[in-house]
Amino acid sequence: MGNKFRFLPDISSDQLESIQLDGLKWTVKHAYTGSPAYREKLDRAGVEPGDIKELSHLEQLPFTTVEDLRLGYPFPLLSVDHEEIVRVHASSGTTGKRKILAYTKKDIDTWKNMMARCFELAGLTKKDRVQIAVGYGLWTAGAGFQLGCEHFGAMAVPLGPGNLDFQLRFLTDLQPTCLCSTASMALLLSEQVEKTGLKDKVKLKKLIFGSEPHTPKMRKKIEEALNLEESFDIPGMTENYGPGTGLECREHVGMHYWADVFILEIVDPETLKPVAPGETGEMVITTLCKEGVPLIRYRTRDLSRVLTDPCPCGLGLPRHDMILGRSDDMIIFRGVNIYPGQVAGVLEEFAEVSSEYQILLRREKGLDFLKISVERKASGSVDNDQVIAGLISERIRKKIMVRTELEIIDPGKLPRSMGKSKRVVDERNI
Ligand code: ADP
Ligand code: ZN
Repeated sequence: MGNKFRFLPDISSDQLESIQLDGLKWTVKHAYTGSPAYREKLDRAGVEPGDIKELSHLEQLPFTTVEDLRLGYPFPLLSVDHEEIVRVHASSGTTGKRKILAYTKKDIDTWKNMMARCFELAGLTKKDRVQIAVGYGLWTAGAGFQLGCEHFGAMAVPLGPGNLDFQLRFLTDLQPTCLCSTASMALLLSEQVEKTGLKDKVKLKKLIFGSEPHTPKMRKKIEEALNLEESFDIPGMTENYGPGTGLECREHVGMHYWADVFILEIVDPETLKPVAPGETGEMVITTLCKEGVPLIRYRTRDLSRVLTDPCPCGLGLPRHDMILGRSDDMIIFRGVNIYPGQVAGVLEEFAEVSSEYQILLRREKGLDFLKISVERKASGSVDNDQVIAGLISERIRKKIMVRTELEIIDPGKLPRSMGKSKRVVDERNI
């Protein structure tokens, strides 16, 4: 049976294993010979490229961390000659650690294909018009979506983020059928479409959104307000090319990832041992053909899990679940570890409040306080605020084991973002 796709590979798990083994051997050799930093790391771990004979030998390799990237600034872990580099990108620095990554011509081509796969998996055709509302320039997002869209053959409308009037003008005038943005930007645009009553004039069918975690509530709100047929969560990070390391398929359960381009391990962040299949842990990535800055067991700090059963869509590529958040996001409050995602999870249970919340931490007279502000649903009534707030904080106390102050505020009161939303404001050390 021929492959019905132009970009997505039709590979069996046997083929995948052999691609991964070849890629792993190549990567270790390439990093060892090309990068003094990698060579030193591997020497210290007592591993030579020739030691890698099967996939399970991956576990003998040392981890690479964000520290390794910082130490080598501005060209960390560079494994090729400078003249091979055709571009650099930097991460958005959400956690205060800006990383600069270098790409060879081949790396750009690999990435282009990864992104083209995304558009194909989302069911786009060459007739589609794609409004790209993410950061251009040094960031990977704009460049990645643009490259992939053109390579796929759809029409790119490269707006970048920001300027809502401009976005709406293009959405109505050029009639794009697909929007690419962060979850926050999609929410903002959907609110703007509602405000301006332009829903009937916007012809969007699909949304490809990522860069930050979202909740089902947020997604539903965006899908309804923009009258979408479907939306697709897209994972990615600057270290591993950029956006488009995989995509949800049309079954919308988890994301297929390009296991012929990188190996994904899920490890326990404490013990660094692989977790049992299907369990949540830290995503660790080893690239298979990345030249400029290969990754060997790179600790992403992102939390997710592998979905072990085959996808009903029939695509042979494996899946991971949504990215739940990053370990850096963890808040320690009165000795309890809390992830913003846990708070979002509780808010998800209450139909009276929307997806938008913020966690504020402050310290008074040596004591820590935690306040959660959440927006009321547009249809909700102020009269119920007190009762609902009580119920939510009770639920948080039961589920997350912390006492919080909970405030329900008017819809649209919290700051909106055209990039990634800031869910936590920690004023304890100011
Ligand atoms: P940073 O935010 O660390 O400066 P990037 O701009 O490269 O770096 O963003 C990559 C990070 O964004 C990932 O490590 C992950 O934490 C987050 N991210 C990307 N896509 C998603 C997604 N679809 N869902 C949740 N989080 C995501
Ligand atoms: Zn699928």
